[in-house]
Amino acid sequence: MIKITLPDGAVKEVEKGTTPMDVAKGISEGLARNVISAKFNDTTVETTTPLTENGSLTLYTWNDDEGKKAFWHSTSHVVAQALEEMYPGIKLTIGPAIDNGFYYDVDFGDQSISEKDLPEIEKKALEIARGKFDYKMRSVSKADALNYYKNQGNEYKVELIENLEDGTITFCDHSTFTDLCRGGHIPNTGIIKAIKLLSVAGAYWRGDEKNKQLTRVYGISFPKQKELTEYLELLEEAKKRDHRKLGKELELFTFSQKVGQGLPLWLPKGAALRERLEQFLKKAQKKAGYEMVVTPHIGQKELYVTSGHYAKYGADSFQPIHTPKEDEEFLLKPMNCPHHCEIYNSHPFSYKDLPKRYAEFGTVYRYEQSGELHGLTRVRGFTQDDAHIFCTNEQLNDEFKNVIDLTLYVLNSLGFNNFTAQVSVRDLEHPEKYIGNAEDWEKAEQAIIDAAEEKGLKYVVESGEAAFYGPKLDFMVKDALGRNWQLGTIQVDYNLPKRFDLTYKGSDNELHRPVMIHRAPFGSMERFVALLLEHTGGNFPLWLIPVQAIVLPVSEKHEKYAEKVLNSLENDEIRALIDKRNETVGKKIREAELKKIPFMLIVGEQEEASGTISVRRHGGEDLGSLSTDTFSDLVSTEINSTLKSF
Ligand SMILES: [Zn+2]
Ligand SMILES: [Zn+2]
Repeated sequence: MIKITLPDGAVKEVEKGTTPMDVAKGISEGLARNVISAKFNDTTVETTTPLTENGSLTLYTWNDDEGKKAFWHSTSHVVAQALEEMYPGIKLTIGPAIDNGFYYDVDFGDQSISEKDLPEIEKKALEIARGKFDYKMRSVSKADALNYYKNQGNEYKVELIENLEDGTITFCDHSTFTDLCRGGHIPNTGIIKAIKLLSVAGAYWRGDEKNKQLTRVYGISFPKQKELTEYLELLEEAKKRDHRKLGKELELFTFSQKVGQGLPLWLPKGAALRERLEQFLKKAQKKAGYEMVVTPHIGQKELYVTSGHYAKYGADSFQPIHTPKEDEEFLLKPMNCPHHCEIYNSHPFSYKDLPKRYAEFGTVYRYEQSGELHGLTRVRGFTQDDAHIFCTNEQLNDEFKNVIDLTLYVLNSLGFNNFTAQVSVRDLEHPEKYIGNAEDWEKAEQAIIDAAEEKGLKYVVESGEAAFYGPKLDFMVKDALGRNWQLGTIQVDYNLPKRFDLTYKGSDNELHRPVMIHRAPFGSMERFVALLLEHTGGNFPLWLIPVQAIVLPVSEKHEKYAEKVLNSLENDEIRALIDKRNETVGKKIREAELKKIPFMLIVGEQEEASGTISVRRHGGEDLGSLSTDTFSDLVSTEINSTLKSF
């Protein structure tokens, strides 16, 4: 008999050779129907793998990420089989699961495929899947494995096998298809009910551009047709909400090859939007006791040697700038923290002066390879809404709670209500990976967990995910399309205070080391605006949107009155424009809709006579004729309802 421990701590005594599927059946038939993958003692196993020793078992269904991974990887085998049957002689290489689906890299030799071939391949793959073939793993000796692929003339698999240890090599069979594979499959192909091949792209063997270019076929699959349909709708919507597309349409930002890739240029409307976000945060920060500081865009190389950034990232960042006469070395600032440490160091502090909270919208520069750049989410220069808090160990819990309050205020005011938090703590089995003493770590981790608890956050604790210098709390946001984004982060740091020899005088008159908290609720302005665009589809909260209302005169005759309306709105601090073009009101409305302007104010004969405006909301709702005063009240009521005071 062996002992199997389940995630809830329950221990089951079962016969040696029992499979994960047997364990599932022992729990309930319902569970057994849904289990598609399993992990035993931190190793992915098949649901049919005989368990031969004591250990802990986790069973996965489609609802788990691990389950999806097994599902998608298993589908890649089926797609590979379909490809092999339709294009004899091709060479298969690797077919892993990815975040959303899977891919298979194939050497098509003299043959080739394009996106128009994908539906036929999908059909074939689905036909195979319906055969309900079991996935069966078997061990193969290195010699046999090499022979198998040498006979096929597949040099890619041969190369993979050559790097494997004899005795660890396995093949996976289903139907008439065999593939070199480590494992991690669903029970049988019949569970795959819907397959969609999404695209075809070029990919170098082993990601090395010196190697041969292969064809990568991307796909995704689901246990229900309905889920595929929903996913495809989501993809369509995501395309419409792509921040690069919306950023252009709404005239927020642009890029110039002349200025350089990965360096965003903010257009007037985008700059105004950013300015509003900054003012919003500055106001809340002021109330929370932060002080603004300003530091330069470059710093001496020595500064980053002291901070440790140079040793860690130096080779992978923009290379030093040299002065012509003195041959000094400067680096573009990759982080604001070292500068803020030196601000702290410019003045002696006693425990009564702490905490010190220095905030800066600091622009930093990090080298990213050109292939990695993506709109505003992966750039080479960006502005962090950064701040560093220097406090005593005793103050850590309170400071942490204050930062959580501020972060929640920011997220709620911007319409993000669906978020989770992750507390990243040490890996207790590897204390050598972390700096600082165990007692401080313990206190800091507990302070974060207590703070999250007291603030009623939904959180998970991930051990081993802490930075080497301290534990942290990350906010993860689910956007309107259900995608996860990492947003603001709060980190405790024992490292920099030591490296910069930061001190304060305690009540005992001795010098002590402060703790440092790094925090950025937005993360960076660039990334945040990108996320906000994709989350809202450009329909920003009213307080933030660049243009809140547009006045649409029915004809030239009513321009004077339209200007009067505009004046009165501007007096009430409403951001409005007039569309004076000689176009029909219908056309002006359609264009204002595309520009996501929340209110369209139509003025013609009747409105001018009665001193009113006809108000139409973005999306088509007719609010009727209102006086400008009533309209201004409506706008400020709506703003106050989202922008709660801090
Ligand atoms: Zn496999
Ligand atoms: Zn920092």
